[in-house]
Amino acid sequence: MSITSHLPRHPIAFLPTPLHPASRLSARLTNDVGRAPIQLWLKRDDQTGLATGGNKTRKLEFLVADALAQGCDTLITTGAVQSNHCRQTAAAAALAGLACELVLAGQPTDPPTGNYLLDLLFGARCHWTTRANRLNRLNELAAELRAAGRRPYLITYGGSDPVGACGYALALEELHEQVHALDITPDLIVVPSSSGGTQAGLVAGAYALGWDVPILGISIDEPEAKLQAAVAELATRTAGRLGKPHTFAAADILVSDAFLGGGYGVMGDLEREAIRLMARTEGILLDPVYTGRAFGGLLELLRRPGALARFGIADAHTIIFWHTGGSPALFAYAGELIS
Ligand SMILES: *Cc1c(COP(=O)(O)O)cnc(C)c1O
Repeated sequence: MSITSHLPRHPIAFLPTPLHPASRLSARLTNDVGRAPIQLWLKRDDQTGLATGGNKTRKLEFLVADALAQGCDTLITTGAVQSNHCRQTAAAAALAGLACELVLAGQPTDPPTGNYLLDLLFGARCHWTTRANRLNRLNELAAELRAAGRRPYLITYGGSDPVGACGYALALEELHEQVHALDITPDLIVVPSSSGGTQAGLVAGAYALGWDVPILGISIDEPEAKLQAAVAELATRTAGRLGKPHTFAAADILVSDAFLGGGYGVMGDLEREAIRLMARTEGILLDPVYTGRAFGGLLELLRRPGALARFGIADAHTIIFWHTGGSPALFAYAGELIS
């Protein structure tokens, strides 16, 4: 019995994803940080199997099941031009035999590259708008499709609603089984956090399992208090859906906004160095927007003595970094990655 077995799920992802011991990187960090040994593990959700992988695939297992149960024929959602969420939604729609329409914020690139190229390959129809207007445009599109006799299923930004977040409650259960089998005790889990569904699902899953492990979200684009409140609210609604009602307070949610840099999608030295270090020690690709920033942030927190203390973490030796995917976006940043 799983904590989500009462909920409809359309199997899409290749699960479980590996929990990979990053040995060369661990040795390097132990040496850099100069304290007790660091054992870094990577939860490889960049290997969820669909369309080059990523965290949205786990959310889509529950979202697509809901869409099919409601008799919908089209998935619609929104994101940036290089949205990993839109790319995985387009692929999941193809796999489920549904149409897909995307509201993308920004300008189409010519030629198409990265995630946007893949959206087109998966047969999605793209509509363009601004970042500020994307949710309005999504609702408008839903109305237009309904008027044309279609049955759209609207997926919010990042797939971050209680339905999608259940994918990450189940993911936490999967990790719990893996750490048990390996007989390791993580001191800390670190995850990139943006629309909050991933962290909220993990937090709700940990509560449902009774697993007391710190789950630190590295904010990608929101101030700390705003993201804490959003994750707490979504975790509360997700716990309800899991049948384990609990009210999370913002203060229960661990978030650092110390690494926002130049803002969403702006790659700086922090991201570039993290991407190179991971690539050159482990042969693993991070991405410029999410995992590069979050892993760069983790490196900074480990290097600054006592930096984790404000999250109630005295010392972190066994650390799990949740790799949420995103590598297609690397191609859209080629000029800034290699100079
Ligand atoms: C969407 C995304 C995230 C953030 O997940 P949220 O659930 O939106 O917080 C992290 N990493 C990658 C690669 C993503 O595409």
